Amino acid sequence: MPHLDVRRRGSGTARRLLFADEPDPRVLQGVFALLFALDLVLRSVGGSPVRLWSWPAAGAAITLVACLAAVALPWARLPVWAVGVLPVLDVAALGLSRLDTLSAGAGILTVVPALWLGRQYGRKGAAVGGVAALLLVVLPGFLYFGVSGITLSKALLIVVVAGWAALAIASALERVRAGWEEAERGRVELAAALETIEHQRRVSDAILDTVDVGLVLLDGDGVYQAMNRRHQAFMRLGYPDGHAGRAGQLGEVYAEDGTTPLPREAMPTHRASQGEEFDDCRIWIGHDPRTNRAVSVSARSVRDEDGTFTGAALAYNDVTDFMQAMRVKDEFIASVSHELRTPLTSISGYVSILLEREDLPRQVLSQLEVVDRNADRLRRLVTDLLHTAQADEGPMHVVRSRTDLGEIVRQSVRAAGPAARAAGIDVEVEAPDSLLAVVDPQRMAQVVDNLVSNALKYTPSGGSVRVVLGVDGDRLELAVTDTGIGIEAADLARLFTRFFRARHAAEQSIQGVGLGLSIARSIVESHGGRIEVESEVGRGSTFRVRIPLDVEQPVAPG
Ligand code: ADP
Repeated sequence: MPHLDVRRRGSGTARRLLFADEPDPRVLQGVFALLFALDLVLRSVGGSPVRLWSWPAAGAAITLVACLAAVALPWARLPVWAVGVLPVLDVAALGLSRLDTLSAGAGILTVVPALWLGRQYGRKGAAVGGVAALLLVVLPGFLYFGVSGITLSKALLIVVVAGWAALAIASALERVRAGWEEAERGRVELAAALETIEHQRRVSDAILDTVDVGLVLLDGDGVYQAMNRRHQAFMRLGYPDGHAGRAGQLGEVYAEDGTTPLPREAMPTHRASQGEEFDDCRIWIGHDPRTNRAVSVSARSVRDEDGTFTGAALAYNDVTDFMQAMRVKDEFIASVSHELRTPLTSISGYVSILLEREDLPRQVLSQLEVVDRNADRLRRLVTDLLHTAQADEGPMHVVRSRTDLGEIVRQSVRAAGPAARAAGIDVEVEAPDSLLAVVDPQRMAQVVDNLVSNALKYTPSGGSVRVVLGVDGDRLELAVTDTGIGIEAADLARLFTRFFRARHAAEQSIQGVGLGLSIARSIVESHGGRIEVESEVGRGSTFRVRIPLDVEQPVAPG
């Protein structure tokens, strides 16, 4: 929008108007002279010709002098009062003109210079006009014709009419000027307010153009109202053939996988124009892999004070580098863990064969057991990493079958027995003989193993671990409680995210990579369940898994 200096333009106009407000002495004097001449002509036509040496002729001479002065003098440079001499001279000319015959109409012309004075100097001018009429028209009349009823009436009427007319025009002008000044003040204030708004708009435009986030504002009908420069670049990429300025237009916009074209109902602008609010909606813009950009879109609705939807604001954050780094990382994890698995399987296989040999010395066998344990640990880590990479490719694939979870829990605790005894930790289990559920047995065993091995890992010697399996309404519930180091409240929210390790665990140099719980969560969620934790630092933790149970349990014989 072009910048307009309305304030300065306003005061210039004000000056021009003020100047134009000054009556032009040449025009006013000219008008008076014409009327005066008309009076003389009418008198002559009516049979009372004006003689050369007479009072009216003297009046005409004064009028002529005033006309010459009006034309010749530089009024703009003279003091303000100077021009007032002209109407006073005109009054004097009328006074002289009336001395020839009292009934001549010249007296009424006094109104003209009186109006002039009133217009020029306001109330003061009106007073001067009245006094001039009294002294220069009325008084000479009395002196010349004497005071009679007729002279008194005519004289008073002249003074009253001239004075009243001058006063009327003075106060009318005063009112007009006051109104005009007020309007002018309002205009100046308005201009200043507009200038402030314009300035603020420029400041906010500059800020919006500086941020490296695409910003769009839609109105209540989904029509684009504004966008910053960053977003214009995204628009050129997504709509090389142009955009009609309405939400939901299809273009070179793709889903998070970068290849599936985004349908209209999934377009961020369309969703936002329907009043939906969201964060981190990831899309790709542009189809050329060398130039396309990944963006994370957030939307917020704009509502008026009644809560009616009036539009939406969207922010497009460029996350291309992040997405590419994630892709590279996942590919790396997937390929490294895959490459590690084959040699590891072979190591474990040969170690198992060696461990079965009876001709080996005891010392060699115990060293081989160490190799076996570590190879086993490494294999679990590699499996976890592979899981993580797969989890990014979509929801975890679960193969459900009718499973006895009671058995799975008991097996898991049995397997952890040697480690628990070695660590001096007491493990207790409370599970029904049989608890049937339609779940993926291997994945669920992985969850239980993980929770039990964590409980042992994060519980110091002398502590205890309790594993309880049961049914709560239509869900099965597994709780693993330990008396270990516990988890700080600040760490709880991020506990189930990949590669996260709580401060306490890291500080105490307890080994781990922070994958087990994130995998456990994705397994539980892919069964439609939830995993939660309660913990207190120094007192212990309880991890609780709840999964919908859609299998009739066998009735216990009784
Ligand atoms: P890892 O044990 O390999 O570090 P996990 O994903 O299994 O990874 O656990 C993530 C983090 O949660 C751990 O690093 C630890 O800080 C914390 N944690 C898990 N289980 C327990 C527990 N029973 N007691 C205390 N902290 C735990």
